[in-house]
Amino acid sequence: MKELRWNYPKTLADAEKLVQQENVVPHGGGTGLLLRNLLGVDGLIELSQLPLRYVNAANGIIEIGSMMTYADVASELQKIDPEHILVKCLHHSANTPLRNRITVGGSIAMFPLWSDLMGALLALDAKVNLIGKNNGDFPVEDYVKDSNLRQNSLITAVKFHNADWRSAHYREIRTKSDMPVFNLTVLLKVEADKVRESRIVVVGTVSKFTRLTAVEDYLSSRKIDEIKPAEIEKLVNLKFAGSRIDDPNYSNIKAGIELGRIIVQMVRT
Ligand SMILES: Cc1cc2nc3c(=O)[nH]c(=O)nc-3n(C[C@H](O)[C@H](O)[C@H](O)COP(=O)(O)OP(=O)(O)OC[C@H]3O[C@@H](n4cnc5c(N)ncnc54)[C@H](O)[C@@H]3O)c2cc1C
Repeated sequence: MKELRWNYPKTLADAEKLVQQENVVPHGGGTGLLLRNLLGVDGLIELSQLPLRYVNAANGIIEIGSMMTYADVASELQKIDPEHILVKCLHHSANTPLRNRITVGGSIAMFPLWSDLMGALLALDAKVNLIGKNNGDFPVEDYVKDSNLRQNSLITAVKFHNADWRSAHYREIRTKSDMPVFNLTVLLKVEADKVRESRIVVVGTVSKFTRLTAVEDYLSSRKIDEIKPAEIEKLVNLKFAGSRIDDPNYSNIKAGIELGRIIVQMVRT
């Protein structure tokens, strides 16, 4: 068996050099790498000694270091805003030992179909900070879609506006220990008796994620009393596929029903 070279950089400058070497990849929590074929990997960059485990909230921006675990994020953001969408997404993700290991950086880089993190980051229009071959802040959506951005680049942080959203997260699971088949993230701004703005992201579709713009348009400036779950259901037309999906049509109908339910709950409370 091939021997893997482990690197333990203590500075971002060292990590930046290492990440640009061929076949040398970052190691966050290791929960995804553990399940991956590492035949093409010559070395790992273990990130735990880097100063990447922090949350900063200043000037209306929240910045989260990429080595924050799901558990870290949930507990730190709870102090800033207990109703924050990331608290809702992450506090019940996977299980306690995994939440203590899974990192924000590794989860953005890997973006599994069952990700509890990515729907919220996409809905928040978050940006990643990269060092290495690519340097600077880039929208998470671009990072997901553009493989050039992911090449030989280390995510150091993710940041987004600290805006006042009503929020909800729904995971489609059979039992608490399941990875979700899909999950829904909803952000709403409600003013007086109308929805002023909404952002709705489904994770787990064939294109990994889908922004439900038809439902966002339906909600736009609509009076709360006029929002009907059955009308929302009709606007949901999602494509699901893969070994974890037995019946794509069932998953689509279920997503529509759950979305209608949570939106009505959000606007009427
Ligand atoms: C049994 C099980 C159940 C799970 N259930 C869920 C669930 O329900 N919901 C959920 O959201 N997640 C879940 N996960 C976690 C998810 O599947 C991934 O394993 C996890 O998101 C990867 O994060 P990590 O920090 O462990 O990354 P790693 O395993 O360390 O890395 C994953 C990938 O990202 C790269 N990488 C790591 N850090 C960085 C960085 N800073 N910059 C650039 N690239 C980087 C690595 O090189 C690798 O390619 C589960 C995992 C397991 C094992």
